[in-house]
Amino acid sequence: MMKIVDKIIRNVKDAGKPEVVHCEAIYLDRVYKRVLKYCKINKTKFFVMTPVNSKLFWYAFHVDKKTVLKKMALRYRALEKTGQEIQLHVHVYHPLVKVSYNYEKKMITGAYYWCIRNGFKPTEYVGGSFGQGKNTVKICKELGMKVAPRSKYRFIHDYDIS
Ligand SMILES: [Zn+2]
Repeated sequence: MMKIVDKIIRNVKDAGKPEVVHCEAIYLDRVYKRVLKYCKINKTKFFVMTPVNSKLFWYAFHVDKKTVLKKMALRYRALEKTGQEIQLHVHVYHPLVKVSYNYEKKMITGAYYWCIRNGFKPTEYVGGSFGQGKNTVKICKELGMKVAPRSKYRFIHDYDIS
């Protein structure tokens, strides 16, 4: 029940903001199929996750890194071809320790260069779990990315697209 109330409050707060997609499960065929359909009628920004978050993909969907690596870049490229903008989304977290500057830097830099190696050049960043702070802004600036304030967009998850 609370979930529904939260959702309604969020919808009211976010009304009028541009809708963007947090792309977290494109390697699942059922998600990819629905995303492609969504792309036929929407042109927006896809804040995409990268293999630096492979552990999370395993915990959430039991998808191994090999599958992720095989499908991710190809599918992001296909989205780009439909006119979507590819931007960056990283869940920076560590199961045991408080996230340090160096850890955050390692995660974001790793994700950024994965994008570069695969032909994408993100200029905008939105953080996942543990959000984003001063360190995030500094790290992203060094890589030529702007951190989008979390209030800037209304976001949906790719795995929620129906
Ligand atoms: Zn996320």
